[in-house]
Parts: sequence; C-alpha cells; structure tokens
Amino acid sequence: MTEKIGRRGFVSGVAGVAAAGLVGASPLSANPQAQGQTPQPAGNRPATGLPARGEFIVRGGYVLTMDSALGDIPDGDVHVKNGNIVAVGKNLKAAAAQIIDGRRMIVLPGLIDTHWHMWTTYLRCMAADKAEDGYFPVTTRYGQAMKPEDMYHSTRLAAAEAIYSGTTTLNDECHNIRSLDYAVEDIRALRETGIRARFSYGPYRGIPPGQPRDLASFEKLHGEWAKHSPDGLITLAYTWGGIPGMGANGAAPPQERVDNARKEIETARRLGTPITMHLASRENTPAGQVQAQAAYLGKDMLLIHMLATSPDEMKLVANSGASISSSPGSELRIGYGLTKVGEFLDAGINVAVSVDTAPLTGNCHLFGILKLMRNAVNAKAFDEFKLTGRRALEIGTINGARALGIDHLVGSLVPGKRADLILVRTDVVTMGVFTDPTHMLVEAVEPSNVDTVVVDGRILKRGGKFTALAQEQIMAKAAATLVSVSQRVKTAAS
Ligand SMILES: [Zn+2]
Repeated sequence: MTEKIGRRGFVSGVAGVAAAGLVGASPLSANPQAQGQTPQPAGNRPATGLPARGEFIVRGGYVLTMDSALGDIPDGDVHVKNGNIVAVGKNLKAAAAQIIDGRRMIVLPGLIDTHWHMWTTYLRCMAADKAEDGYFPVTTRYGQAMKPEDMYHSTRLAAAEAIYSGTTTLNDECHNIRSLDYAVEDIRALRETGIRARFSYGPYRGIPPGQPRDLASFEKLHGEWAKHSPDGLITLAYTWGGIPGMGANGAAPPQERVDNARKEIETARRLGTPITMHLASRENTPAGQVQAQAAYLGKDMLLIHMLATSPDEMKLVANSGASISSSPGSELRIGYGLTKVGEFLDAGINVAVSVDTAPLTGNCHLFGILKLMRNAVNAKAFDEFKLTGRRALEIGTINGARALGIDHLVGSLVPGKRADLILVRTDVVTMGVFTDPTHMLVEAVEPSNVDTVVVDGRILKRGGKFTALAQEQIMAKAAATLVSVSQRVKTAAS
C-alpha cells in the first residue's frame, strides 16, 4: 500500500512539474535551415506541418542496402526524389539535389517494428513489482480511465520515440478502442508525426470475456480510411483474438464464442485487411493453441510472441506463410520465456521484431531489442554464431517489411522503393573504432547516434534533432495525460 501511494505521488509530482514548465514551448520546426533542410516558403508547406518531400542525395556513407543483389556499398550514395529512391551506388550524379553528408555514417533502411501498443507509452516503466500493480492490472486500470485524447498524446509520444531512435515503420496494436473516437485520435497521432504505420484495430482493456467485438465501427473505419490516411502512409489491419481453446477441464469452448471469432476473421478477410494476433504467448502454457487456428492461418497473418508453439505447429505456420513477431524486450521482462526465434528461423518462418509496450520495456529502442534478441538466441543455442549481426538486421528491416506485406515499398534501399532510411553516426566515442557495421549497429548503437531519419522522403530527424516534431510539447502533454488519467483512476478506486 505504501509503495502504491508513493508511486502515485511521485508520478503526479514529476508530471506536474513537466506540464507546468514545458507546455507551450516553441516547436523545433521553427528553424528548418538550422536542421540542414531546404527551407520551404510557408505557402508550400503541407497542411500537416511536416517537411515537404524534396530531392536530396546522401553522399559518401557506408550504405547497407539490405538487398542481396546490391549488397553493401562503402563510400556510397543514395539519391531520393519526391519520396522515391531514385538510385543507389557510387559517385551518383544529381545536380539539383540537396547534399547530405554521409561520411562517417552508416546508411541503412529504417527499422521496422511489428507490434507496439503505443497507447501505453505514457505509462513508461509503470509495470511495478507486485501482482496488483503488474503490467496487465496497471494498463487495465489506466486504460479504462482513458479518454480519446489520451490515446493521441500517448501514441504521439511513442511515434516520436520511434522516429528519434531510427524506426520508420511500426505496427500500432491499438488494444484500447473503447469507441471509434479512441481509434480516430490514435490514428491522428500517427498521421501528424509522419511515421509509416499499420494501425491494427483491437479490443479494449477490460472487455468482458466473450463479448462480441464492435465490427460495425471497424467497417466504418475501413470505409472512410482515405480520410484518415490521405497519402496512404497508414494502413488498416484487424487484431484478432483467435478461436478460443479448450477450457481448463478439457471442455470445448462455448459455440457462441467460436462463432463470434469466425465472424471477426471473416469480416477482416472480406474487407481485405491483414490480421495480427497475440497467440501462444507464454512458453509454459499448453501446446495446441496454434493448432486451434489451423483453418485460418495464412500469409496475411502476423502472429505475436508464439513461445508455446510446438515443433509441429511451427511447420503449420511455415506452410501457411504467416510471419511471427518476436518481442524479446517484453517477453523476457514479463517472464513469457526465453525466445524461440532460433527455432522459428530454422523452421523457415519469416521472423520480425517488435517493441510491444513501454511499461515493460522502458525504452522502445529497436536496435537495443535486436541486441537482446540476438544474445538470447545465441545463449539458448550455446552458439556464438547462431544469429549473426546481419541476420538480426534483416529481422529488423526487410523481414519486418515482409511481415507487414510492404516489402515491395520499404525494408531495403533499392531504386523504386520509397525512401525510408536512416543515417547512424560513427564518429562518437561509443562507436569508435569503425569495424563491422552490422555488428556495430546491433551491439553498440544508442538512439542518440541516429543522426538522420527519413520517412517516405520526408526528413524527420537531422543532425540528431527532430525537424518538425515539438519534442517538449509532446512530452509535456503526455506527462499531463498521466496526471489526469491518474486522477480518474484514483476517483474510480475511491
Ligand atoms: Zn502485445
């Protein structure tokens, strides 16, 4: 009890100071020239406040294309125009292009996160050390007290963290849609930050077991999607709960629940939206959970965690073409088990990486999560070479694009693809001396080393700073959100 009161008091105090001191701070976009951007006349700026897509060339970087044909290009260039990668190679000609100095930088595709409950980000590090304050009780208490605008502020903070740390595409698993407004506000945050995203339409915290999902709102959202993502940077997916398994006593699940689950996935497939699902999450739970979904597994599915998957079930997944999203940062922290990424890869499954949730992972730095993944895979296999640095980077880039069905657009630096790329500085003491760039990225990078981040040709971070996002305002609003939601939680408990 003491701990709980202490924690709440601490949260209110810190958040209050942040909110009082920082609300209204001027946006960093005020001086685009200082960020190395081509200034745009006010009339030419897009209404979103994001930088325009121009023409630029990254010169002289160590380019990891993550494409098997193009390979690595030391002292290489990447030419980008109107959001497209025009050319990748050495000594490219591009007279009209703005030059971005790539020397002493590693240039690579932006990282791709495949599962992130962004609405929980304002609860960073709030999963506490007692059962009643663990991850699920905390996010349920706070989730139930949230309003639509709280979704916006939390997801905006998450998107800012993604961009800051080199993630250019993410899958926003929105598991707190209490009404359509909650989804709309969450999507607005994605759109305004300029990130490339999949929005995965989920249930809400505290939904009574067996209650049918609000498919009418999902269909409405699908019907008006162009309004939510006019430039197509955000796509819609459905988060499915799956066919319920056997009861603890071996009894078959109620037929009504099975029928509801079928109706959900049939709706998603009729609308043509991809499907994500959390499945077989804890290693120490009975096998058979994947088998129960056998009739529905397919290439349009992204299966999350999967630690209780048996070898036979892995074959089933591999044959279906479904991908697996592994989030070792959260899986290790919450005790779901040691990763099975090595086994999934051996079974021929496309494996991608994910953040999951800031209350458990602390930060959402995907290079750090890849490092955890690689180290856990090698530890489990008693093998220094089981997962190489390059293979880990593929998991964080092109495999993620495949998992989201967008590998024709992003995931590698290839002419014709959209320009989602990052530049990582190597001229800092924590990155010296330059050795193997794939190992440096997976072992040594900190978010602050990410110098430049480009999403769909828009430069969103340059010289280590946001070009358009107002960092202080985003943080202050998220802090104020925690204060107000905490108040509502307190009132509900009293
Ligand atoms: Zn999750």
